[in-house]
Amino acid sequence: MTRIFLSPPHIAGRERELVDAAFDSNFVAPAGPMLERFENDMVGYTGIKHAVALSSGTAALHLALRLLGVGAGDTVWLPSMTFIGGVSPVDYVGARPVFFDVDPARWTIDADLIETELKAAAYSNTLPAAIVPADLYGQCSDLKRIVAAAETYGVPVICDSAEALGSWSGALHSGKGARAAILSFNGNKIITTSGGGMLLSDDPAFVAQARYLSQQARQAAVHYEHTEIGYNYRLSNISAAIGIGQLEQIEAKVARRRQIFARYREALGIIGGVDFMPEADGTRCNRWLTCLLFDRDWGDVISQVVRHCEAADIETRPLWKPMHMQPVFAGADYRGGRHSEDLFSRGLCLPSGSGMSDDQQERVIETLIQAIEKLRPASRSAKDALATSGTVR
Ligand SMILES: *Cc1c(COP(=O)(O)O)cnc(C)c1O
Repeated sequence: MTRIFLSPPHIAGRERELVDAAFDSNFVAPAGPMLERFENDMVGYTGIKHAVALSSGTAALHLALRLLGVGAGDTVWLPSMTFIGGVSPVDYVGARPVFFDVDPARWTIDADLIETELKAAAYSNTLPAAIVPADLYGQCSDLKRIVAAAETYGVPVICDSAEALGSWSGALHSGKGARAAILSFNGNKIITTSGGGMLLSDDPAFVAQARYLSQQARQAAVHYEHTEIGYNYRLSNISAAIGIGQLEQIEAKVARRRQIFARYREALGIIGGVDFMPEADGTRCNRWLTCLLFDRDWGDVISQVVRHCEAADIETRPLWKPMHMQPVFAGADYRGGRHSEDLFSRGLCLPSGSGMSDDQQERVIETLIQAIEKLRPASRSAKDALATSGTVR
C-alpha cells in the first residue's frame, strides 16, 4: 500500500508543458516571461491589484515587514497558533512578536482581543508596528474588523494568507483589504511551485519596492549601483511556469478539498464527541487541511491517533503548536486565554490532498475509526459505538 500524505503536490494540468516552454525559451533563471504571467494570473484570480513572485512565503513576509520599516524596538502582533514561517521574519527584522489567542469560533486571531488591546496599547504608547493575522487552514481571518480597528491607530495589517489561496470572504479574496497579503507555494500548500511565495498589495509602490528589494536592491544604472541592502528572493521562471499550470486548476483543487472535508464530516461527524474546524459565516474556506477536533473527555489521544495512522502508513499531524509554547519563544509576550493551547491539545490534521483518491480517503476513514474505537473513553455512551459502526462500508 502506498503512503498517504497530508497534502502532497498534485500535478494534474499543463505544468509540464509550461515548464518545457520555459526551458525552450532558455529563461532557466529567476527572471523571464513566466514570472510576469504568473503574477498577472494571480492578480486576475485574487483581485488584489499587484503581485511579486518570490522564493517563499517567509521571504514575502520578510519583505513586507522591511517595507513597513519594522525593526529593533518594535513589536508585531500575531496569532500564537500558526506556522513558524509566518513568524520568523519578525525576528529577521529585529522586532519582537507578541502572540495572541485565537477566536474559538473561527480559529484565527481574536478580533475582539485585538480591539481591546489596541485601545490599551494606544493609551500606554505601546502600539505595534504591524499586525499579521493568519488565515489558518484556509479560514479567513476577521480581516475587515481587524483592519478597521488597526486603521484607527495607524497600524498596518499584513495578512498571512499562505494557507488560504482560494478562500473568500464574500466577494473578497483572503488578504484583500490588508496593506499586503502573502501567499505560499510550498510543496504542501493548495498549489505548489515546488517552493515559492508571493507578496500582493493594492498599492503599486509597495509591490514595486518589494520587487526591487527581492533582486538585490539594484538601482537603475548601466553598472550595478546599490544604496541599500536587498535580498535574493525572486522566484525562478521555471517555478513560475509550474505555478501558472497549478493556478489554472485552483477552483477544481478547492472543490476537491471541500469534497474531501465533506466526506470526512459525513463519515466521522456522526461519532459522538468529535467535531471539525468551523467555517466562518459569509466565507468560503478552501479546506486546505481537514481539521478534526476531539471533545475534552477523550483525554490526551492525539499522539496515539497519529501513531495508529502512522502504523497504517497514513500521515496525520496535530494542529500547529502555538508559538508561545515553543522553546524558541520562551518568555514571549502572550495575550488572551487558552483557546490555542486547547485546540492544539485535541486537534488533528487529516490527509486532504486534492490528488487523494476516494479509495485512499476510505482507507484513512477506516483507520481513524479503528483508532477511535480503541481510544473511546468509557464515559462515552454505547450509543456512540453503535453510530460509528454504521460508517464503515
Ligand atoms: C507555509 C506557511 C508560511 C510560509 O510559507 P513558505 O513558503 O513555506 O515560506 C507562512 N505562514 C503560514 C501560516 C504557512 O502555512
